[in-house]
Amino acid sequence: MNTNPDSVPSQPLKDNKSQPKILFIDHAGVMGGGQYSLLDIARHFAGSCKVLLFADGPFRERLQQAGVAVEVLAAPRKVSGVSRQATLLQDLRAVAGVLHLARSVAKHARDYDLIYANGQKPMVVSAFVARLANKPLIWHLRDTLTVQFESRLHLWLATTLANCFVARVIANSKATAEAFVQSGGRADLVQTVYNGISVAPFRAVTSEQVAAARQQFGVGSAPVIGAFGRIAPWKGQHVLLEALPQLPGVHVLFVGDAIFGEDAYGKKLREQAVALGVADRAHFLGFRQDIPLLMSAVDMVVHTAVEAEPFGRVLVEGMLARKPVVATRGGGTPEIIENDVSGLLVPPSDAKALVVAIGGLLANPASAQRLAEAGHAVALQRFSLEALLAGVMRQVDDVLARHR
Ligand code: UDP
Repeated sequence: MNTNPDSVPSQPLKDNKSQPKILFIDHAGVMGGGQYSLLDIARHFAGSCKVLLFADGPFRERLQQAGVAVEVLAAPRKVSGVSRQATLLQDLRAVAGVLHLARSVAKHARDYDLIYANGQKPMVVSAFVARLANKPLIWHLRDTLTVQFESRLHLWLATTLANCFVARVIANSKATAEAFVQSGGRADLVQTVYNGISVAPFRAVTSEQVAAARQQFGVGSAPVIGAFGRIAPWKGQHVLLEALPQLPGVHVLFVGDAIFGEDAYGKKLREQAVALGVADRAHFLGFRQDIPLLMSAVDMVVHTAVEAEPFGRVLVEGMLARKPVVATRGGGTPEIIENDVSGLLVPPSDAKALVVAIGGLLANPASAQRLAEAGHAVALQRFSLEALLAGVMRQVDDVLARHR
């Protein structure tokens, strides 16, 4: 397994005319981290690619605004409703729908050189498409394949289909690459290409905008923590709430929504804030489009995943916004943050450790500044959008060359 991340562009990006024709497949209509990343990749291939979505929503609009051809092939409910921990019965009920969807996708695939599945569900469908249409298939793996997230049947199915039908697995961190291999995936299929994020929207934020945003928070000069990410139990927002009573005067902005149906958890968080007596300091902003501004306006970014975070774009975004980042150790996080050098790492599900880390940064602005500056340099150097695009291009070229 080569887990060396493609962190430095090694060749100039191609112009549209010489670009390969790629059919991207994604299951989501909403914007999660995987969709933001695909938006950047597909925008780069605009003019020679199409994105097929299995659900309609804001992702389609964002792709269209970016000039990317996009089409929605709505998945049958029995397919779209399959969760990562689905039962055998639910999986069996989805089989006919998957095959039906694969036949529809195969008709589109004939016009393209390569199929690019952005995530696990698209890979399962695309495995059959690759066979039907005789096209090479890349799987961009953005999930941690472990029993904490997936049923054993799904782990077996994903790795077996990949081993048989996928030409290359692009893992978004060494941790996801290793989890794939641990689950039975072929080590020779995997290459790590880190996510990359454009610094431009962060540089465009002005001090006037920051001042206005802070005024809108209505918290005066009180310290403000930003907790960015979708609302989901494994993202661990409840642990930050647990820490808040021990951080007097500190406010938290929870920025994100329960985009994949975790509404009950969102409700529980609000109840927890009331029960802990911190409801006036826990602000639930819902899904926001102005992340660079919000990140620039908070005093630090805290990420509290309680399970292995596959990558964690929000960590890099916090670094690009020049904020000290506190994150839980696990998954791809330690590949992004070196503890006490470019941010702080704490154990997952440990509210006391969070209190110490956050309290320490607030008490020592010079140390917070040092971590923020070091983190900023790391984000620019290792997690740039250019590096992501160059890494993806390299894998695409290699897969096509081997297929010919
Ligand atoms: N995000 C957003 N609005 C929100 C919350 C999050 O645009 O209200 C973005 C965030 O900036 C990041 C992405 O959603 O780019 C989340 O990616 P990450 O890798 O952190 O988590 P994932 O959703 O992939 O688990």
